[in-house]
Amino acid sequence: MSSYSTGVRFALYPSLAQASVLRQWIGCQRVIYNAKVAEDQYFSTFRRQALSLTGEPTPLDQQYAQFKTELTPWLSEVPSQILRNGAVRWRNAKQRQLQGLAGAPVKRRAHGRQAVLITNELFQFVADEQDGHVLLLGTPKFPVGALRFTAHRPYQLPKQVVISVEAGRWYVSFSFEVASAGVDVLRSPEELAYEFNNWSDAELLTVTAGYDRGVVNRLADSAGLFYPVDPKVTLRVQRKEVQTRRYQRKLARQVKGSTNRNKTKVKLARLQNYRARCAQDWAHKTSYALVTSGTKVHVLEALQVANMTKRSKPKTENGKWVRNGAAAKSGLNKAILGSAWGRLALYLNYKATRRNQLVLVVPPHYSSQECSECHYTHADNRATQALFVCQRCGFTTHADTNASRVLRARGIAQLRAGVVVVKPRKRIAIRRTSQPGAGCSGMSVERQDKSGLEHHAPGTHAASKQKIENCEVRSTVL
Ligand SMILES: [Zn+2]
Repeated sequence: MSSYSTGVRFALYPSLAQASVLRQWIGCQRVIYNAKVAEDQYFSTFRRQALSLTGEPTPLDQQYAQFKTELTPWLSEVPSQILRNGAVRWRNAKQRQLQGLAGAPVKRRAHGRQAVLITNELFQFVADEQDGHVLLLGTPKFPVGALRFTAHRPYQLPKQVVISVEAGRWYVSFSFEVASAGVDVLRSPEELAYEFNNWSDAELLTVTAGYDRGVVNRLADSAGLFYPVDPKVTLRVQRKEVQTRRYQRKLARQVKGSTNRNKTKVKLARLQNYRARCAQDWAHKTSYALVTSGTKVHVLEALQVANMTKRSKPKTENGKWVRNGAAAKSGLNKAILGSAWGRLALYLNYKATRRNQLVLVVPPHYSSQECSECHYTHADNRATQALFVCQRCGFTTHADTNASRVLRARGIAQLRAGVVVVKPRKRIAIRRTSQPGAGCSGMSVERQDKSGLEHHAPGTHAASKQKIENCEVRSTVL
């Protein structure tokens, strides 16, 4: 029997007094986290300049006692575990950076979503028949009391929880292991690919689906189905947009730092969260529909959402600024980001993995112009936005259905060729320029290899930084 880890986020209802204590915990944990970030930055700067420190490793610890001084008496007003967890969070973030999974840890801000990591010395789950689900929080010295939460799905007891607040709403979230139902042994993508490769072409075609993601139709599959957003939801989002603009005008008139302005801010954040939650909801429902449709191999096109939603560059003509279509491009960006393409891929991946289904990623080039029947590729094939008419064989269908069939064919070809996991990877190519220091202003990312698990020796670190600074940096997508 295999198991996988899953997570839940439940609405939490603290009293005003409890919320105030939780905010104190959040603040103190953030202070420790930010102090660790600053300490790390200090060490790395100092080391780069001092030859005598060559070879000295950066401290990668979870010590925080040095931050508890007479200048910070308020740190003693929260349980020490809260402070330690701040240091643990930083260490985990730093380790992710060293493994090449994330950028360097940055300081957390005091606005937006706020969260605190709480380990099981400080909480206890209580199932109360009268009150439903209750979380007992605190220690004898720092009691918080019983917090009610709504559990909309079954859960198991975790070792740690995260309590967060966003736009005035509180949540408790945690992860736990569950046994996979219906699947005895979870297979790796390579094993699945091997299995499916033994199937005949006809069998494979019946269990494979291609998906075309778009702005007009969010998702079209190779069976000719579309997965639109509920029109009611679209209408609600539009109404909330109008309200958002009204609150933005109101906010602009209010005195900075006033209580009323802060109230408007919370209302605005709530309106803006609504849109994001709708997109998330669609991605969850759609990905669930896809993995329960009988399909075993899902084929998506590799989309670089971050690249596709870049701002348009400023344009000049004879030294004068001219229109660059920025307004239209930002409108398209909003539509792309709002359509939750990335989320859909993310959710589809984990839901498929739990059911021993395979997700393949194929290159997207000219998938909208290629005929899925005879593979003739021409721009004229796309008669209108919605209609595809092949100029060679006359095959006519919806343009998005055709594109998803093209993707399906590419997926099968890739599977037959033995290429299983093709993830778009970012590579930074470095090219020397004749003028040192030219064209490197935008360089702030230091990506490391996956192999760079251990700390870089400061000498080589400084040298590679120097090398990067004298180079023109280009980002290419494979
Ligand atoms: Zn054709």
